[in-house]
Amino acid sequence: MINKREFYINGEWVAPAQANDLDVIDPSTEEVCAVISLGNQADTDAAVSAAKQAFDSWSQTPKAERLAVLERIADIYKSREAEMAQAISTEMGAPIDMALNSQASSGSWHIRNFIKAFKDFDFEQALNDHTPNDRILYEPIGVCGLITPWNWPMNQVSLKVIPALATGNTMVLKPSEIAPLSSLLFAEIIHEAGVPAGVFNLVNGDGVGVGSQLTLHPDVDMISFTGSTRAGTAISKNAADTIKRVSLELGGKGANIVFADADEAAVKRGVMHCFSNTGQSCNAPTRMLVERSIYDQAVETAIETAANASVGHSAEHGRHIGPVVSQMQFDKIQHLIGVGIDEGARLIAGGLGRPDGLDKGYFIKPTIFADVNNQMQIAREEVFGPVLTMIPFDTEEEAIQIANDTPYGLTNYVQTQDGAKANRVARRLRSGMVEMNGKSRSAGSPFGGYKQSGNGREGGIWGLEDFLEVKAISGWT
Ligand code: NAD
Repeated sequence: MINKREFYINGEWVAPAQANDLDVIDPSTEEVCAVISLGNQADTDAAVSAAKQAFDSWSQTPKAERLAVLERIADIYKSREAEMAQAISTEMGAPIDMALNSQASSGSWHIRNFIKAFKDFDFEQALNDHTPNDRILYEPIGVCGLITPWNWPMNQVSLKVIPALATGNTMVLKPSEIAPLSSLLFAEIIHEAGVPAGVFNLVNGDGVGVGSQLTLHPDVDMISFTGSTRAGTAISKNAADTIKRVSLELGGKGANIVFADADEAAVKRGVMHCFSNTGQSCNAPTRMLVERSIYDQAVETAIETAANASVGHSAEHGRHIGPVVSQMQFDKIQHLIGVGIDEGARLIAGGLGRPDGLDKGYFIKPTIFADVNNQMQIAREEVFGPVLTMIPFDTEEEAIQIANDTPYGLTNYVQTQDGAKANRVARRLRSGMVEMNGKSRSAGSPFGGYKQSGNGREGGIWGLEDFLEVKAISGWT
């Protein structure tokens, strides 16, 4: 059992202003695996004040020195990846191999990618070739409040902390109170790497406490948030009073359009992608739209794929599906599976209750609904569990219309061996990302959404720009 009640403020671990313990629950066992503290206004104020004090010096630290710090973070993080994987697996239930090879390693991947983008980024640029006296400067925004969810903890923390550091900002990180252990380790890495006191601070807390305090704080200049659209709306409203910069990465309800000429593995790949991370990914392809001529065959393949998907404890090795993160998520997903049944969707795999042999832990049966109508609640709401909906379509135009008929716009997917059709459809999809034929995003490409999936872009130069002000200077000599 881990006891980590302290916060990291101004370069040291400090006790909370007031005792307020929170149990962290291992989703596989439903047992308490750690105790942390929830911060209050005094803790938030102390962290923001440290970040404010550190800003002048850090924002003027030469690029080469900041780069050296980032390189040290990358090396130390890599050396502690196994420990990180263990923390992630315990706090949010990712099976240990997946926690190491996808969850923890995504942190290393992002740190290295940002180092590349940072090296290439020109913080002082000419306006154009004809106006030598105009200069464009890219400058840090100030004190950033970084608020992250529990589903890909190190992915999200590294996507915020590293570009914020690189661009000369100072920050207060408030990780998810449900999965805080990996972020506490991350703070140790930051300390070991020699990030100057006050530049990076961490306060644990919940959304209504530390989360809201950061978004309302007059000395916080920017909020970078990843989480639900519901919280994103609340944060935008709070931040409006002090005109903070707000970067939002929110929910999704991705469509995966499978045309009749898709490659043979497309359906199986789509099912497994939807179930990966136990369906707890904002960019999960949760609506599979299948061309009617191959629909019956696709349903058969989906049934077979779900039958072969095993569910198990996060401590076990292998490529199984772990539990969902919490009792609350378990109840919500069970409720939505019930809604799907009541709405008249055809349940072809899984359903209500735990999988056989798993009487404890937040385990969900990998579930698939066929003959879903896009107006049904299970096609519109983010379930955030291993639940796939299958929707038939007749024409390319209809597929595009159904895919776009959602308040979200994060990632959509297209499966066809006709390159011209794939490109044509990708252009029409209203989402920040489109992945085709199993090809995932490359290093340095931007991650972010249209519509209610948010307004920010993380990764590559876009991830750096999110943390920068633009200054135009005329009369430059
Ligand atoms: P959540 O919105 O409940 O919580 C996310 C974080 O925000 C937590 O740290 C929480 O304490 C904090 N928070 C909650 N309410 C707040 C408020 N009013 N003010 C300030 N902070 C507040 O989300 P979650 O359940 O932790 O994560 C799942 C959600 O995150 C899903 O909707 C998922 O799609 C989304 N997500 C989006 C992306 C993306 O990049 N687009 C990535 C991962 C997850």
